[in-house]
Amino acid sequence: MVRSSAAVWRSLLANEGLSAADLSAVKDAHSIAIARFAMKHSPFYAEFYRDHGFSLNDLEDPSAFYELPLLTKEMIREHADEIRSDESTERNSVTSMSSGSTGEPLKVLRDLRVHARAYEWRLQRWWGIEPWANTATIDRHYRTASARRKQALLWWPSTRIQLDTFDISDEALEAFASAWKRTRPEFLIGYVGGVVALARLARVKGIEFESPRAIGVTAGPLPESQRAEIEDFFGAPAFDHYRSSEANWMAGECDRQSGLHTFDDIKNVEIVRDGVHLMDESEGEVVITDFENKVFPLVRYQLGDLSSRILAPCACGRPHSRISPVRGRTSDFLVLPSGKVILGGLTGLYAGANEYVRQFQLHQQADYSIIVRCLLTEHPDAVEVAEKRLAALRANVDGEVPVSLEIVDEIRPTRGKFRFIMSDAPKTTATTQR
Ligand SMILES: [Zn+2]
Repeated sequence: MVRSSAAVWRSLLANEGLSAADLSAVKDAHSIAIARFAMKHSPFYAEFYRDHGFSLNDLEDPSAFYELPLLTKEMIREHADEIRSDESTERNSVTSMSSGSTGEPLKVLRDLRVHARAYEWRLQRWWGIEPWANTATIDRHYRTASARRKQALLWWPSTRIQLDTFDISDEALEAFASAWKRTRPEFLIGYVGGVVALARLARVKGIEFESPRAIGVTAGPLPESQRAEIEDFFGAPAFDHYRSSEANWMAGECDRQSGLHTFDDIKNVEIVRDGVHLMDESEGEVVITDFENKVFPLVRYQLGDLSSRILAPCACGRPHSRISPVRGRTSDFLVLPSGKVILGGLTGLYAGANEYVRQFQLHQQADYSIIVRCLLTEHPDAVEVAEKRLAALRANVDGEVPVSLEIVDEIRPTRGKFRFIMSDAPKTTATTQR
């Protein structure tokens, strides 16, 4: 596994030597190839493209790609079984859940033959970090003890330490700080909100961290003020990058910190407005095509984030195109009156429960109490399931504020956009990102 990830990584490195025009040609060839694959091997795409007047023959022409209809989250939600390709087996596919920006759970299949680890290494290299560097992560993966042991073996001799964003308690923070002292990570990677929250809490508590060489942050806009705060606290440069649970690594900053280079050799990252692929620098929606997922093809998939292209070549000389920092994603954390941060995991509150819960929204009130609004299905057990899942959130809140369920008929967008987590609470040691 590790060795083939290394092979993938070497091929990514080789692509960095291409000219911008050659890399763009590689991108166009892969784009039309995966569209053709999808039409041949996925019942959904066969019908979808045929209904829009495309034949397999039409997909011999690379320029046809940019005319293909867009795939929406709603389509994935409704047609997941038909999107699955005939290449998908139990061995090569695994379900990945994400909440989607509206808080409705979204199920996609990941292709286990894809070496996403190599994509992380690519970014690390751009940031001056070797693949085997000791790493600290701030994320929301719940690893079992046996999974942790397996991971430790896989990454020997490097060490990975982890802070779980679902609950940055005093104990967890102290344990993380002492693991940091012991392993001296060269690289810190995590969610923007988590890294900022860690920096603020550690500052308040007088906990210091020996500087890593670089910090990678993702899953939220990185305002310059927060970048400065992170860099100041940790004494290392902080780099933004862009990934999603549906399509792993998509783009990242280079050492120039001026826009995100898209991974044009493994993804087509487009900016689209009103269905039209934009060639200029105006703002639009991010639409991605994953060249490598052959069990659940994602072709011209609307992620729901906003960005714009940067047309000028980057001073670093890399051939990869650039986009401006991605906006419009929901932040995923709440702060309690004590300063405790409940972070990550919130968007997954009803993951796997779409039989019962159609949509939900977390709304923290001015008095810090939390209302979870649920739009339920007709299922007779829907209320019970909605309540049960709330227990996990209540356990994390640990009685500090009330958490209540509100069953609603509709969840309305705010300022034209669904907001998945909202907070009217006064800002304390950490602030929400909106
Ligand atoms: Zn660059």
